Amino acid sequence: MEFITQSGVPAGPIGQGTWYLGNRPDTFQQELSALRAGIDRGMTLLDTAEMYGEGAAERLLSQAIRGYDREKLYLVSKVYPHNAGRKNIFHSCRQSLKRLETDYLDLYLLHWRGSVPLAETAECMEKLREDGLIRAWGVSNLDLDDMDELAAVPGGKNCVTDQVLYHLGSRGIEFDLLPALQERDISVMAYCPLAQGGSLRRGLLESPAVADTARAHDASPAQVLLAFLLARPGVVPIPRSSNAAHALDNAGAADIRLTKEDLARLDAAFPAPKHRVPLDTQ
Ligand code: NAP
Repeated sequence: MEFITQSGVPAGPIGQGTWYLGNRPDTFQQELSALRAGIDRGMTLLDTAEMYGEGAAERLLSQAIRGYDREKLYLVSKVYPHNAGRKNIFHSCRQSLKRLETDYLDLYLLHWRGSVPLAETAECMEKLREDGLIRAWGVSNLDLDDMDELAAVPGGKNCVTDQVLYHLGSRGIEFDLLPALQERDISVMAYCPLAQGGSLRRGLLESPAVADTARAHDASPAQVLLAFLLARPGVVPIPRSSNAAHALDNAGAADIRLTKEDLARLDAAFPAPKHRVPLDTQ
């Protein structure tokens, strides 16, 4: 599945994350330049959340997208679980729109599951969609049992995305969640696709399997991690960078096609689990 912008342009295949961005005045301009460099290279899917810096990332993004044709961008934001019910979601969504200085979100996600019933969140998301505040909705950090529960509530089958942690060093979703989502035509937004610059899995970016593959394609290790995810149908990685050179590097991963041999080498070094494991979140 592809994310299609309002004007019919595909927003992808790689997006940009914004966690930790927009918080610091001393790096604000640099972060702005990185996001704009990424947009210029086709990374027009922009992921944020009301949680990120309590609105700071959305405010940064409002500046990053200034001057671009809104209809060619694909803006994604997320609602806190405690705001994802009738009482707060409409206010939360309007606040996100206000900070982003836009009229609609292309996609609105439940950030993770909380105490609001999924049926209530689905009902509210449908109302937001009917009212034109959002074009589509999805969820994040939901495992297969939660996705099954969601599919069974009224409107639940209109969920288009599950945004989950997924990188070469963390492949738990390949056991059953990813195939189930692919089967249902629900896209997977892969967060932490670079394992947070390798810090979530020490040695991942420097590993011989990644380094050899990078060398074979005259690519960077980060590009190999992204290309690994791009080789899977329905998966959209959303790397975050505060550095324009890194953003361009990430965008370049879209041109890399890993061979069967590359994928076998990476798979041997970082195999997917052969049994169900709890959904990874860090
Ligand atoms: P990430 O994208 O895996 O890694 C970001 C780190 O990688 C930064 O330190 C960045 O440093 C570095 N980096 C980026 N491009 C690089 C390159 N080409 N070469 C070397 N280093 C590079 O981690 P993330 O930000 O946690 O995840 C991505 C996005 O997913 C988030 O920003 C957020 O939008 C989303 N997310 C969602 C959830 C959720 O619960 N739904 C949770 C986590 C994240 P520089 O700034 O120096 O480039």
